[in-house]
Amino acid sequence: MKLFDEHIVLRMLLLIVGVLFSLFAKDLVSADVHPAWLIPYSAAITFLFCTALFYSFGKSVSFKRMRRDVTIEAPEPNAIIEDGTREKLAETQAFVNLVMSSNTNGFWTYDLPTGKMQWSPKISNILGIPQERLNDSFECIKDLFFESDWNNFKNVLNISLASNQEFSVDLRPVNSEDIITISGTSQRNKDGRPIKIAGTIVSKQKQLARKDRSNQDELTGLKNRRYFQDHLKNEIEYTQTHSGSVFAMILIDLEHFGNINDMYSEAFGNSVLKIVADRITTICNKNDCIARLGADLFGIIIHDIQGKENSDIVGLVQKIHSRIKSPLKHDDKELLIGASIAVITSSDIDSADDMMSNAMVLLRNLKNGESRGGIQFFTSGIREKAMHLYQMEFELRKAILAKDFSLVYQPVVDVFNNNKVVSFEALVRWNNMERGMVPPSEFIPIAEESGLIVPLGELILRKACYQAKEWVDEGYKDLRIAVNFSAKQFSQENLIDNLCNILNETGLNPRNLKIEITEYTAMNDSDKTVELMRKLTSMGLEISIDDFGTGFSSLSYLKKFPVHTLKIDKSFVDTLTEKEEDAAFVKMIIGIAKSLNLDLIAEGVETKEQLEFLRTEGCRHIQGYYFSKPLAPAPALEFLKQQNMIA
Ligand code: C2E
Ligand code: CA
Ligand code: CA
Repeated sequence: MKLFDEHIVLRMLLLIVGVLFSLFAKDLVSADVHPAWLIPYSAAITFLFCTALFYSFGKSVSFKRMRRDVTIEAPEPNAIIEDGTREKLAETQAFVNLVMSSNTNGFWTYDLPTGKMQWSPKISNILGIPQERLNDSFECIKDLFFESDWNNFKNVLNISLASNQEFSVDLRPVNSEDIITISGTSQRNKDGRPIKIAGTIVSKQKQLARKDRSNQDELTGLKNRRYFQDHLKNEIEYTQTHSGSVFAMILIDLEHFGNINDMYSEAFGNSVLKIVADRITTICNKNDCIARLGADLFGIIIHDIQGKENSDIVGLVQKIHSRIKSPLKHDDKELLIGASIAVITSSDIDSADDMMSNAMVLLRNLKNGESRGGIQFFTSGIREKAMHLYQMEFELRKAILAKDFSLVYQPVVDVFNNNKVVSFEALVRWNNMERGMVPPSEFIPIAEESGLIVPLGELILRKACYQAKEWVDEGYKDLRIAVNFSAKQFSQENLIDNLCNILNETGLNPRNLKIEITEYTAMNDSDKTVELMRKLTSMGLEISIDDFGTGFSSLSYLKKFPVHTLKIDKSFVDTLTEKEEDAAFVKMIIGIAKSLNLDLIAEGVETKEQLEFLRTEGCRHIQGYYFSKPLAPAPALEFLKQQNMIA
């Protein structure tokens, strides 16, 4: 079997001549023929001899030089396969079989010694024909394509075989808009004769569909982050070449989405994300680029907001916002989802990176500010604020490298035991050369957002541990130092290892250390947090829940957490003597702490009235300006000596 067997006719002729000659040969040898016949006999012998010579010469040439047509004469297997090559070919064949069966790509091979054509199963799918139609010749797919394309393919294949070069040809199927690309290359033996041709068959349409899938977010079917960023860059380029064209970028961040995953399940959370994606899609236009950029972060690019269709960008954003926020029912559960939305247009900012980072700043502002869960449009004031934040972040980074931070210590006293100091809360201070003393409320959120809280937190912890060790060595064996841990720090994978290293390095006993985390941190991924808390407390550390009352801890959660202390938030203490409901709330917290056998600290106590109220209600531990502001190490030790008088 050959690829295109046209020369078989020549062989047939030779065969006939050979047969005729053998018939006449007997008479010729017996010499009982008339001499007049000798002329045609000798002419026939000469013709036969020349033809045979010509044929064998042509054949031997064809071993060295490729034939120019695609009708590749399959030589006898043994003529090509030299010693040892047979095994190699067997191995190659095994590999080819493996590739063929992989079913992921359209592969084909043509083996010259055996004259066998092999097609991978995927090819029938690519070409849209039944598998049975693919036989031992390329010709079996000829009819699928326009004749001119097929002829061109054959030409290219011939040239490629003669020149030993790879080829790639596009063919148009008669029955579809698709383009099929057939590519291939030949494998030769050491005489340079091709022994195998192998290649691929690819559908442009299917390739495009695959490419499209690689731009897709698997979960929601929206575009993914990479595509969104490319699209954003393209839009910027478009506005630069089309004056007057403006586009808008909208970022949507869902509120407390982690809690949904925690409270229900990840699968439920995924369904919620799909529903939200669908809600956004139904409001936007088909041409808008809608993407999921992170776990619960969505992005939309609205092309040409000056055009008629998109002119009411404010209205559109409000619609998206209220649609996301409308009650969502799934799996018999009903929830309300909040979303913070940031909007920037290309007339505000004209670089893709700046647009993205400013939109993230808008979201951060929304999350930290009072309008959490609202909509914010970019204004130049915000740009200044963003610049300020960037500057702060930059300086913070430098300050961390230079270890430019100090700690102050605020005592916590036991009002039932002569106001003895039971612990100190370590509070960080940043004394910046230009800005002066920067309050932690200003830089801690930036450190948290930028991730700088992790190295900063480590710095603080190490410093506090060294300090605590010094005071313990002074004789205050039971003193504890409380260190604030932000959520990001607390969720670090290597938290325990880091902690152990620092305790080893400083020589501090874990029982002299306390960790303060907020209610929000404790609630985040509660199962994991409980496990972590168990490990920490089993080391001998104590854990406090800071700002207690501002979050949404339920009693059942509190019971689950192996915590030691609750700290009543300053905001309740502030109005304790003025607002009855705050007084009632504080009484309730004191009751909860007692019933759960938890230690309680009231923080931010400034007045005698506040102190009296708390003491009367049974709150034993007090922290606040009434007793002392946070103190530098030396005055803190003085305070400790004064209150505790051990020596
Ligand atoms: P926080 O953990 O709730 O710390 C208590 C804050 O209340 C401290 O403010 C303290 O100085 C202040 N305070 C205590 N008693 C009184 C009082 O009687 N009156 C008034 N007006 N204020 C009082 P500070 O040091 O400015 O810290 C503010 C917040 O910054 C802290 O709140 C904490 O969330 C964060 N922070 C401070 N230091 C660190 C730290 O080392 N690491 C982390 N992650 N966060 C820190
Ligand atoms: Ca604290
Ligand atoms: Ca607090």
